[in-house]
Amino acid sequence: MDVGHGVKPFVIKGLEVAPGTRRYVDLPLPQAFGHADLSMPVVVCHGRKPGPAVFVSAAIHGDEIIGTEIIRRLLEKLRLRRLRGTVVAVPVVNAYGFISQQRYLPDRRDLNRCFPGSQGGSLAGRVAHLFLEEIVARCDVGIDLHSGAIHRDNLAQIRADLDDPRVKQLAMAFGTPILLNSDVRDGSLREAVRSEGKPMLLFEGGEALRLDEASIRAGLQGCLNVLAELGVVAKRLRHGPESAVARGSRWLRAPSSGIIRSHVALGDRVREGQVLASIADPTGRNSSEALSDCDGIVIGRLNMAVVNEGDAIYHLGYFRSRKRAGEVAGNIEDFDAEIRDTEPGEEFPIV
Ligand SMILES: [Zn+2]
Repeated sequence: MDVGHGVKPFVIKGLEVAPGTRRYVDLPLPQAFGHADLSMPVVVCHGRKPGPAVFVSAAIHGDEIIGTEIIRRLLEKLRLRRLRGTVVAVPVVNAYGFISQQRYLPDRRDLNRCFPGSQGGSLAGRVAHLFLEEIVARCDVGIDLHSGAIHRDNLAQIRADLDDPRVKQLAMAFGTPILLNSDVRDGSLREAVRSEGKPMLLFEGGEALRLDEASIRAGLQGCLNVLAELGVVAKRLRHGPESAVARGSRWLRAPSSGIIRSHVALGDRVREGQVLASIADPTGRNSSEALSDCDGIVIGRLNMAVVNEGDAIYHLGYFRSRKRAGEVAGNIEDFDAEIRDTEPGEEFPIV
């Protein structure tokens, strides 16, 4: 066998992956109550040349399947002969939620609030512990892929601890037009990875239970760009406009209940006081308008025809100045045009 000089086998779950090979490993999960055996699928691509080990994970929230498709395409693109280091792909972390099309685990817990977990803890805690022991502990860097929740659509974006210069460098390399400097949540994978002193990016794009070609391409290009930045793959893909860090973000809530007609799309620039949506009850007697409370960009939105008063309807990212918001809106348009124009290779684009 053609093995790498000085590169050791990659060990996972007691199995050795030789340099220059790809191995499919199933990490056994606690059995489902209906007696079905479940496992967390892992694909290890171990290069013949030395380099960092990078995990790319998806569907920690079981209905956020866009990352699963991003990983499928990523695995098609990786050329083992050229790899410097290791890519550990985990296309479905929450296998329970994936098959039931649910965000949560069977114990109704959010896996992304249950890290670090423990071997003898709750079901969610056991899955979290397994992921930390078998994936995070064996890797140097991570990318975790998410989408909006059900009926919520996100503009492709990176959320990360941008005060850490190593994280910021990778986030800039990923290349989405907008980066959010977001605090880590208690119990999140990001918090657990950070506490091990390792950088991690969280990608958000698209909507739960749906695939959209632009978000998939943004995620795939970003993962390849980060792997190139780390030297794992040779060539960086196209450079888009430089990413802008949002100064903050907030959700705008529906001022009344009824049928909502949205006037703005994801990525649109909005101005303070602008009418973003009109809402009317079924009789038409009571109506209201949702007004933007800031000058910014629509980075997330609700995709529902009906809303209750108080529902979060738009996620608005804002910037240090109006001029900057305008520039970012232009960058988003350019990025979108470029990403849709990217040669998809062997892939049939999803329409
Ligand atoms: Zn998620």
